[in-house]
Amino acid sequence: MSDRPRALVIGGSVGGLFAARMLHRAGWDAVVYERSAGDLAGRGAGVGITRELLDALAAAGAEIDATIGLAVDSFVWRDRSGETLFEYPRAMGASAWVRIYQALRTGFPDRDYQSGRVLAHVEQDADGVTAIFEDGSREKGDLLVAADGSLSTVRAYLLPDVSPRQAGYVAWRGVVDAADLPDTARREIDGHIVFSFDRQAAGGEMMLTMPVPALTAEAGPGGRYYFIWYCPAAGDAFADLFTDERGQNHGVSIPPPLIRPALIQDLRDRAAQMFSPGTAAVVARSQQPMLQAISDLASPRLNHGRIALLGDAAFVARPHVAGGITKAAMDAATLVDVLSDTGDVAAALSAYDARQRTLGNGLVDHARYLGGYVLPEPGHVPPDEKTIMRDYGAPHLLHDPDAAVFATRPGDAP
Ligand SMILES: Cc1cc2nc3c(=O)[nH]c(=O)nc-3n(C[C@H](O)[C@H](O)[C@H](O)COP(=O)(O)OP(=O)(O)OC[C@H]3O[C@@H](n4cnc5c(N)ncnc54)[C@H](O)[C@@H]3O)c2cc1C
Repeated sequence: MSDRPRALVIGGSVGGLFAARMLHRAGWDAVVYERSAGDLAGRGAGVGITRELLDALAAAGAEIDATIGLAVDSFVWRDRSGETLFEYPRAMGASAWVRIYQALRTGFPDRDYQSGRVLAHVEQDADGVTAIFEDGSREKGDLLVAADGSLSTVRAYLLPDVSPRQAGYVAWRGVVDAADLPDTARREIDGHIVFSFDRQAAGGEMMLTMPVPALTAEAGPGGRYYFIWYCPAAGDAFADLFTDERGQNHGVSIPPPLIRPALIQDLRDRAAQMFSPGTAAVVARSQQPMLQAISDLASPRLNHGRIALLGDAAFVARPHVAGGITKAAMDAATLVDVLSDTGDVAAALSAYDARQRTLGNGLVDHARYLGGYVLPEPGHVPPDEKTIMRDYGAPHLLHDPDAAVFATRPGDAP
């Protein structure tokens, strides 16, 4: 047995891997317990990247190269004809969830990443914290990091009344290979996040389209294009979206292959009527659009003795702040920081709670404000299109506009 302090990290996605890697570098034994038995690399889609995220990847010792992200120089609002209505200069990086995950998983020791381990319950006493798994096995540690996502088992135990709050709208998402898109469409999007809006009396629709990297570094830069399209949906219309061909309703998310083809055709038809030719082509040519209800979540506290909530287990901001991965990374960095300040784990976690709760609440609130364009919160005046573009991605909390994060562009040589 090692005499180093021992951390049990529940959840082996980006949040858990950031935490475990940083704990290793700070001298901890840290083992990740991940519910899924298979590879997680098939998950996710396009993500915005920030200077904070790059710094955290470096602090976690993850190796990345310039192909992990593509440079975006401006946010552009285009109308149906493709005409630019407004352009807002903004340096940002666009990446893909899988690329961040792979950077974190590669080089992380397999002996410390246990797949197929499903946490059922936690116990703690003065000596330590114990994770109890569904198969009855137990692991004891000095610290337990709950990085088990928005439906966290650990949070349900600590804070049973806290659960995701539905926003009243959905997001369609899809990805298309560059080779499947006409040159004209690529030219419309390259170097930009293209915003498409459709304002209606009681809210509106909003779509973002951007270039994202290929699935692997070997494929070189400039591989794919991604869209995310927010649409209000309530009552029967909402239930209908998540109902498959056999009439089975899937709640708030549906496996992409079970989305009814007629809904996808309707999406493509509406994109052709509403959006610019290039962005409508991304919708039309995305092979397997994904659909999910948008929700958010704010935990009133992130610590409980030797247990810390981290990443989406702690806070979920709607995707408009493009910050879930960055926040998980910042949570991990703060956690390791406070643990190195004191040997008293419970005291360190109180400091962690104070620091990260402010950030989490700020992101949730800002994303609600931006999402007001799609469905205004009662009593709130929704932001207009130009304000959304200015405030997108929470520039006051993340996404420092002065930090030009990437130089790689679609079509650059690898
Ligand atoms: C539509 C959409 C767009 C987004 N866009 C962006 C973006 O542009 N930029 C960005 O930074 N973020 C974005 N995000 C958010 C980002 O994907 C998440 O914030 C991020 O994946 C959170 O990581 P996590 O590790 O905390 O949780 P998760 O990725 O949810 O991982 C939790 C892990 O815990 C495991 N687990 C769960 N329960 C148990 C259990 N009982 N025992 C063991 N393991 C368990 C799960 O299998 C999973 O692997 C977006 C999210 C959505 C939905």
